[in-house]
Amino acid sequence: MIKLAIPAPELATIPVFGTNEEFPIRRIYCIGRNYADHTIEMGGDPDREPPFFFQKNPNNADTSGEFLYPPETNDVDHEIEMTIALKSGGKNISEATALSHVFGYAVSLDMTRRDLQSNMKSLRRPWEIGKAFERSAPIGPLVPAEGMGHLETGLIQLDVNEKITQLGDLNQMIWKVPEMISYLSRFYDIAAGDLIMSGTPAGVGPVVKGDRLVAKIERLPDLNVVVI
Ligand code: MN
Repeated sequence: MIKLAIPAPELATIPVFGTNEEFPIRRIYCIGRNYADHTIEMGGDPDREPPFFFQKNPNNADTSGEFLYPPETNDVDHEIEMTIALKSGGKNISEATALSHVFGYAVSLDMTRRDLQSNMKSLRRPWEIGKAFERSAPIGPLVPAEGMGHLETGLIQLDVNEKITQLGDLNQMIWKVPEMISYLSRFYDIAAGDLIMSGTPAGVGPVVKGDRLVAKIERLPDLNVVVI
């Protein structure tokens, strides 16, 4: 039995839809620029250049339904994304076997302190301050792939104050789910508990206190978030 020097930090978890179980989070990987129309709006080239990833922290995931406007910023953007949760992993996973590692899917938001991220980009410094802050990953319940199947197509939509703000289809992802898993596993030991946030379609924009966000992906329960 390990004797801890301080009380153990709380385990970050998200609920599994239709059960009383929680899914424990190990890591959160996020892909950048995975929809061509969003790549263009961010000033990039949508040609298939190699994917790139950044990370959030496990306890940045938040299921409270409230997004607490973060400090030291005046420009926080919403990015609706599908999250993929892994039940197993490995190294050098083939695309052909990648989906066998998927536990399930959830609707999520990659909330971004855009002003801080842009500043770090221009200074060629890391992005964490713009991406990996408290409650920066609102996420809905995880729906197991067992029973539902895997999500390759389907509407992905964010309404802000009942107005459609982001709209796309999962089939527009430049890097598909098996490709993302396979690529990540070349660089990291992928494992049970890892989440992958799969990028956002065009239409990202700032939120203000009082905004009501409804994030929707076909076949998944909506994620409702109010900005406080
Ligand atoms: Mn994103």
